[in-house]
Amino acid sequence: MEAGIVGLPNVGKSTLFNALTASKAAQSANYPFCTIEPNEGIVSVPDGRLDRISKYFNPQKIIPAALKLVDIAGIVKGASEGEGLGNKFLSHIREVDAILQVVRCFEDPDVTHVAGGVNPLSDMEVIETELMLADMQSIENSRNKAERAARAGDKEAKERLAVMEKCTASLDQLIPLRKLKWEDSEQKILASFGLMTAKPVLYIANVDENDLGGNGPLVQKVKEFATANGAGVVPVCAKLESEIAELDEGDRLEMLQSVGLEEPALAYLARAAYQTLGLQSYFTAGPKEVRAWTIPIGATGPQAAGVIHSDFERGFIRAEVYTLQDLETYKTEAAIRQAGKLRVEGKAYVMKDGDICHFLFNV
Ligand code: GDP
Repeated sequence: MEAGIVGLPNVGKSTLFNALTASKAAQSANYPFCTIEPNEGIVSVPDGRLDRISKYFNPQKIIPAALKLVDIAGIVKGASEGEGLGNKFLSHIREVDAILQVVRCFEDPDVTHVAGGVNPLSDMEVIETELMLADMQSIENSRNKAERAARAGDKEAKERLAVMEKCTASLDQLIPLRKLKWEDSEQKILASFGLMTAKPVLYIANVDENDLGGNGPLVQKVKEFATANGAGVVPVCAKLESEIAELDEGDRLEMLQSVGLEEPALAYLARAAYQTLGLQSYFTAGPKEVRAWTIPIGATGPQAAGVIHSDFERGFIRAEVYTLQDLETYKTEAAIRQAGKLRVEGKAYVMKDGDICHFLFNV
């Protein structure tokens, strides 16, 4: 699962991205299985439940869930007409599962605004329009092929074409695809198109150092726009976050206290992105490590096991599952088992957020 960071030039994308990747909490060494490209960063998703579980295991390591973020530079007004929206950009953005759009809400006479003044509403409209135009183009590019196949009697092509037509009708009225209602069958086809305005979006309001809570009039505008579009908003001061991310733990806490924050805004951002992506966590716990794993809401036991290793999914036999509440009541796994609270779940089990699991599998 990955999210792509977009935004107009000079809104603070690079600053934010650097903060995310410099963050000492997000040690990519913990995630040796993923390749990290230069424009990608791993951000950990802080979760208080990890510490609560760890109290009973004293693990050598605590590993939070992580998200991959991709810095997608390149949107400007007119981008979809070829002024900067190259193929590379398009292929990057097609692959991401959600879009995080940075919107400039800070005033700074030293930092030029591409449109001449700070106006978050117009920035959001520019980006949304460019994404819609790019989606229209993508559909146009594959429409002929689908039409030919549909005429030749290909049933799947007919279904694809119907979804394309629904997309075009919506985009013609400047309605982003994420606002439409889609049947499950349509949703699958839509996802295969990789269209940008079909992806969930989260707005990151890059606020002034003196408006960390995001209560200023510019952020209010972002909030109104986002609410009308069913999206969330996280206020972040990219400049401050990049300074915080460079500090050691002790200094970081001091700095946070001095500006009145409980934790870095990047922590809120990571959790909000996680929600936007429709993700949840389950845990594995033992003396070696206590670890959060990321799964989509609705994932089954075998799918959850597959996140650890694909062999676990293939060879899944059953899962032994308990809750944090059980752990806090009975203190040890043995006591949970004795009390008859250790659930044994089979292949059809739909995982719940916060399950603590052992998987039994054949290799
Ligand atoms: P990008 O083009 O969107 O990647 O923008 P950059 O991250 O390069 O930022 C553009 C300029 O704005 C840089 O000079 C940053 O130092 C400055 N900047 C970024 N975030 C903030 C912020 O939160 N407050 C202020 N005052 N300046 C910022």
